[in-house]
Amino acid sequence: MKAAPEHQLRLLDVQQADTAIARAEHRARNLPEAEEVRELDARIAELRDRAVAARTALSDIDREQRKAESDVDQVRSRADRDRARLDAGQVSSPKELEGLQSEIASLQRRQAELEEVVLEVMERREAAEAEAASVTAELERAEAGREAAEERRSAAALEIEDERATERDRRERLAKEVPEDLLALYTKLRDQYGIGAAALHYGRCEGCKLALSTAELGRIRQAPADEVLRCEDCRRILVRTTESGL
Ligand SMILES: [Zn+2]
Repeated sequence: MKAAPEHQLRLLDVQQADTAIARAEHRARNLPEAEEVRELDARIAELRDRAVAARTALSDIDREQRKAESDVDQVRSRADRDRARLDAGQVSSPKELEGLQSEIASLQRRQAELEEVVLEVMERREAAEAEAASVTAELERAEAGREAAEERRSAAALEIEDERATERDRRERLAKEVPEDLLALYTKLRDQYGIGAAALHYGRCEGCKLALSTAELGRIRQAPADEVLRCEDCRRILVRTTESGL
């Protein structure tokens, strides 16, 4: 294939723009901010579950506390009634009196036990409240962090999109300057290898980074300037520049 040296050089510019576009696309797909948002999303989901669990635990404990307090009230009022009967002197039979006194004693023991239960429930409530408050605070921090990360992600994506659009415009302009057959060969090679055209830089192919053999360099020195060369190693289009070291 034949192509004017300036068209071959133009192809290197096209390649450079294509590389910049590919790099921008790669960066857009692998934004660290996007990864950060994903991680925070997972963290927020976990914290929301924990917040629901904490609220459920609190309302369970509240119910338990009300039940324990009402148990205490019941026992206390029964003991109060017994004591009132005793104080009013309504009970005269010694047997009934003894029964009543023993019931009061047993109600007092029961009340003490139930009050212990209330205390224990209140302690658990305190711990559950602390857990709920800490989960809520953590959730708020994570949500604020996610919002900030999302803003950074979107700013970074916009910046990359700008860069990509600029490179695409540049690529389009440059490609118009390259003859169709050369551009078609380049496109085919680029699809195949990622890089379709490379400079010959001081005896080395910039595509595969391999040094050309002396024989190959000799052949290139003899080749007409408008001959489209290919790297013997990687088959990419090899473009001669002022820095080819020929
Ligand atoms: Zn090569």
